[in-house]
Amino acid sequence: MLEPVIGLEIHLQLKTKSKMFCACAAHETAMSPNTNICPVCTAQPGTLPVPNEQAIRFGVRMGLALNGTIASHSKFDRKNYFYPDLPKAYQISQYDQPIVSGGFLIIDEKRIGITRAHLEEDAAKNLHGVDGKTYVDFNRAGTPLLEIVTEPDVASPQHAKAFLQELRLIARYLGVSDADMEKGQMRCDANISLRERDAEGGIVGMKFHPKTEVKNINSFRNVERALEFEIKRQTELWNAGSPPSVSTTRGWDDASQTTKEQRLKEGEGDYRYFPDPDVPVLELADIAAEERRRLPELPATKRARFVGEYGLKPEDARQICDDPALTDFVEQVFSELSSWMSSVDAEVKDQSKLANLLSGWLLSKLTGLLVERNLDITSAKINPENFAEFITLLATGKLSSTAGLTVLTEMVGTGADPSHIMEEKHLGRIDDEGAIAEVIDRVLLNNPDIVERYKAGKKELIQVLIGQVMKETEGAVDAKIARNMLMVKLESN
Ligand SMILES: [Zn+2]
Repeated sequence: MLEPVIGLEIHLQLKTKSKMFCACAAHETAMSPNTNICPVCTAQPGTLPVPNEQAIRFGVRMGLALNGTIASHSKFDRKNYFYPDLPKAYQISQYDQPIVSGGFLIIDEKRIGITRAHLEEDAAKNLHGVDGKTYVDFNRAGTPLLEIVTEPDVASPQHAKAFLQELRLIARYLGVSDADMEKGQMRCDANISLRERDAEGGIVGMKFHPKTEVKNINSFRNVERALEFEIKRQTELWNAGSPPSVSTTRGWDDASQTTKEQRLKEGEGDYRYFPDPDVPVLELADIAAEERRRLPELPATKRARFVGEYGLKPEDARQICDDPALTDFVEQVFSELSSWMSSVDAEVKDQSKLANLLSGWLLSKLTGLLVERNLDITSAKINPENFAEFITLLATGKLSSTAGLTVLTEMVGTGADPSHIMEEKHLGRIDDEGAIAEVIDRVLLNNPDIVERYKAGKKELIQVLIGQVMKETEGAVDAKIARNMLMVKLESN
């Protein structure tokens, strides 16, 4: 049986203010070509690179979050190759002393080892003009990148996708990168080969065969598709008795949804790495200690805590924690809820019931209202304190679900507190028996034929009358109370 052996190489564009080795802005989007440049990032003779401390901190922070070891000493090396978008004819990268080595992430209960992570500068961009000429835009040259390399531990195309999604989430939690694949802030190359296992699970032949590196994958979906395509292509080669005999590089072609051979893969020797004499060795012990102290709670820990502490369902906790802003909102709502709940009956304090009520209103109703209005939780007027009060009103039965949606819509639009809106719009539950009796009398008076048929034995018609009461009061009466009071009236005269 054949099984895939998959490893990933990810480039994360770090969210620093300036480039890796000069003071130019690191994010040049929407600027005219070749306006975000200086003598350093265009490699003018006599200039010297100065490493960006923020980029180093971001790399260290990411390394810690990936359970990696931060090097006490780390250095930069020159990776030599000639290409029009590389003005120095070498890239400043890290070879044998990367800032991070080792590490792992657990994805879907399977461990993916991290081999290393190192800092480097991005190349410029070649633009192919309609006139058939190629132009070079140096705005991107020198943007800081963190390259993360995994062990060949990725079990399947789906596993690869889940790993990358978690990596993006971690980068966002840490504030080191927006990691948007469509915008090129996170780029992924995937290495894949196949190997054979016998019926007992033992590896037949070589442990690792020549691999194919798939480049230019620009979305999570395409990572999955490119790997699925390669598994199919390589399986056919194996079945034909001619598995890949050399390592190659292929590019993902979005239009045809296939991979296409580009060139034979360079060996490390081709790059003639050597230490960059212009950049001093980095001493990282102090930075590592500081970053470790400041490391925020990571997504996996947060998801587990949302389940354990707040009583949320695992799938709800996952959905909330995928959005850092929503996560902060929910934390604040739960902290406010405990004070709102301190004064109510023990019955409604059931933590998991409360959590389900909250996640239901948050994930379907509130998020829906925000999407309709093209808002997110930070730009909307609703605040966590008011949402906590809203949940309390629902939990204690003071507000019905029907009226709840009206109140929530108003909260999103105006930022007003829910009890104020209920008072203004007369949306509270009607508890006053006299008021309910008035409505019931009116309903009975307006539906004489239904009353007559009910008395003649069509007992199920009580549903119609309850429906009328709910309609008259816009759902503000408890349906059980309405039923009881209707029955008393109908049976007594
Ligand atoms: Zn520059």
